[in-house]
Amino acid sequence: MVLPALREWMEKTFGASLNHKTTSRASLNVSDAPPAIVNEGFIQDVKAIGISFSQDVEDRVFRAHGHCLHEMFALREGMFKRIPDVVVWPSCHDDVVRIVDLACKHNVCIIPFGGGTSVSSALECPEDEKRTIVSLDTSQMNRILWIDEKNLTAHVEAGITGQDLEKQLAESGYCTGHEPDSMEFSTLGGWVATRASGMKKNIYGNIEDLVVHLKVVTPQGIVEKSCQGPRMSTGPDIYHFIMGSEGTLGVVTEVTIKIRPVPEYQKYGSVVFPNFERGVACLREVARQRCAPASIRLMDNAQFQFGHALKPQVASIFTSFLDGLKKFYITKFKGFDPNQLCVATLLFEGDREKVLQHEKQVYDIAAKFGGEVTKAVAEGQHFTRRNRNAPVCQGLHRSQQYLWKPKPFIKKASICNSVFVSKCFNTVQRSR
Ligand SMILES: Cc1cc2nc3c(=O)[nH]c(=O)nc-3n(C[C@H](O)[C@H](O)[C@H](O)COP(=O)(O)OP(=O)(O)OC[C@H]3O[C@@H](n4cnc5c(N)ncnc54)[C@H](O)[C@@H]3O)c2cc1C
Repeated sequence: MVLPALREWMEKTFGASLNHKTTSRASLNVSDAPPAIVNEGFIQDVKAIGISFSQDVEDRVFRAHGHCLHEMFALREGMFKRIPDVVVWPSCHDDVVRIVDLACKHNVCIIPFGGGTSVSSALECPEDEKRTIVSLDTSQMNRILWIDEKNLTAHVEAGITGQDLEKQLAESGYCTGHEPDSMEFSTLGGWVATRASGMKKNIYGNIEDLVVHLKVVTPQGIVEKSCQGPRMSTGPDIYHFIMGSEGTLGVVTEVTIKIRPVPEYQKYGSVVFPNFERGVACLREVARQRCAPASIRLMDNAQFQFGHALKPQVASIFTSFLDGLKKFYITKFKGFDPNQLCVATLLFEGDREKVLQHEKQVYDIAAKFGGEVTKAVAEGQHFTRRNRNAPVCQGLHRSQQYLWKPKPFIKKASICNSVFVSKCFNTVQRSR
């Protein structure tokens, strides 16, 4: 794909010279990887109980990192100083119990690994760890064990990815509505371990609002409540210290999560504001009136410009003409300064009639703050998985694509729920 505006944007914004090339490797050089610290006793016991494992360098490097920028650069230009020594693939809760028992017996560390989308460096191995480090990959624990349609809950193994969870639940007409931007790869157990937030949290809540019950394997035993009810009045909620613990306290193996019927109707939209201050003021008003749609995100001018820079080369003169028209409408006709304007993207969902009413309410608020509604996506159309993994770029691109649509303006806004806070936990570790 050709992105004709990206180079100029990078040079102008960062003063970067794209002629300066840094070294990168096309593939992993196995000899660069630090040698494994092997605990033979652990390996022999894992073999004996028939659990899949690997000491292959590629498998170990793959699980040595998440998606932090410094981790990407370490992969591109060098190597991690410490990586897991062995990878194990339990296929169920009982396998995890056995592995944790063996870890205790042989004094090795475990780092649970879900989808590997961590942005908190929590998957990185401590450089000075002398014990064997085991990456416990949950990917084979990926089944929905039951659905309770009366209580609207589902009991699911922790290694299922968000994408598979929603797909499989949809076959029964349900969803969790939990959609972090990483949902294509991130897992249910990873969401619990990182106290994750989804883009539709305004309706469905964050992971802590959705979890009903957890099963967690720790070196001291299994942590779980004896009740699967959605709420208990007695005692502290033990699950709250598991959520956000980043794998330091145990391995989450099974989760009971709230579900809802798949929404009948979805509608996407976007609103352009003359400047960021107006956008924020509008979002505050939406929050004050407590009418935020399922998702609402405000992007500042820098993000808007970046989205523009990611626009692919247009295929036809007609498209190019339309782009010019849109730009003319918003900048010349409406008088928005391209170096000031900002964009909010929205998603409404639920019953069709209520969605339309809700949309009008939000767009009326936006209009009071100078917002211009733009038709982001055809009615009822859903995000594709690909969109989710590039949420900002795609959202902005779409906003601009439809910027010109001069509808009777109503429009929107609300809380920027797209920011998730990096977690401060350092990694793993457990031992005797
Ligand atoms: C493109 C992108 C978009 C993102 N969008 C969002 C977003 O919208 N909202 C958000 O909150 N975060 C987001 N993140 C961050 C990340 O996706 C979340 O933190 C996610 O919850 C991690 O899940 P995972 O399965 O990938 O876990 P991993 O990255 O594999 O692990 C993360 C941590 O959880 C631990 N862990 C994993 N599985 C288990 C388990 N079963 N039991 C115990 N501990 C476990 C690991 O040891 C590690 O400490 C995004 C990341 C990327 C790269």
